[in-house]
Amino acid sequence: MKLPPFSVHRPESVQEASRLLAELGDEAAAYCGGTELLLAMKLGLAEYAHLVDLKRVAALHGVTSSGTSLRIGASTTHYELESSPQVRAWCPAFAAMTSEVANIRVRSVGTLGGNLCFADPHSDPATFLIAAGASMLCRKAADTRRVPAAEFVTGPYQTVLEPGELLVAVELPALPDQAGIGHVRMKLHERPIVTVTAMVQLTGGAVSHALLAIGSVNAVPLSADAAASLLGAGTGDFDARADACARQAAIAVRPLSDGDSSPEYLRHLVYVHSRRALTEAFAAARDASS
Ligand SMILES: Cc1cc2nc3c(=O)[nH]c(=O)nc-3n(C[C@H](O)[C@H](O)[C@H](O)COP(=O)(O)OP(=O)(O)OC[C@H]3O[C@@H](n4cnc5c(N)ncnc54)[C@H](O)[C@@H]3O)c2cc1C
Repeated sequence: MKLPPFSVHRPESVQEASRLLAELGDEAAAYCGGTELLLAMKLGLAEYAHLVDLKRVAALHGVTSSGTSLRIGASTTHYELESSPQVRAWCPAFAAMTSEVANIRVRSVGTLGGNLCFADPHSDPATFLIAAGASMLCRKAADTRRVPAAEFVTGPYQTVLEPGELLVAVELPALPDQAGIGHVRMKLHERPIVTVTAMVQLTGGAVSHALLAIGSVNAVPLSADAAASLLGAGTGDFDARADACARQAAIAVRPLSDGDSSPEYLRHLVYVHSRRALTEAFAAARDASS
């Protein structure tokens, strides 16, 4: 495997990177850690005469809190996230999810932005961020827009980003009061074949809000409003209602046929993992309420 020749551009601002990408058009791609893009180029699956290296763009790095949300620069590596005291304090479940991505070699250079923008269906963060109600901050030249996480991925290896537009940061809101998150996933080889994140919020001990996001099975992560089936559920009936909700989720998915697993098996995994994620989220919400 040998990389074809290409020129590297090293912008130092988002505006400069955006301008370069717009000017160079289809001949160019952005990259940060390169764990996806350089591999795709080595395998002959992508070819670019110009690569725009984002590593020197300071505005894409770092984690800051606004009080209501945590702003995570797109070029933050998975390792920086899992080891950040600020991220661990803000959302321990997010830090824990990140620590399960790939292996330490990939996590040390691979970035959150690269993961989201590559939009491989078999991934963890997009699913988590949907259930957590996150937003993506995108910028093209001087124009900035905020895209809900549930709308960012539009297909396998496709996102809402326009040519010349960059993902600048992810905004992770604070978890609502008395809420908990559960994230579970399973992999057979390198990447997950099922990824489920549930968010459950309680009011007076009963479910007042619930979300279920399912990834790595469909072409794009599926966002299911679990509130309808779980609203009002409490300690006595949560298990039975979570079971029904998980069964509905298994019916709703349209499993990809890009692996060795049958659609029936994948649906079963969605059922089992949805149930588990909901149970974990409910337990975390109860802990947060006590
Ligand atoms: C062996 C292996 C195992 C893996 N296992 C998992 C797993 O278990 N779970 C999981 O979720 N993922 C997994 N991954 C994926 C991994 O998380 C990604 O490879 C990594 O996060 C990509 O980041 P990067 O910076 O290297 O991306 P790059 O390769 O640099 O870029 C990827 C794509 O994103 C675009 N891009 C990058 N940054 C921006 C930006 N700021 N704005 C616009 N476009 C941008 C690039 O143009 C390119 O198309 C695995 C990968 C490998 C190689």
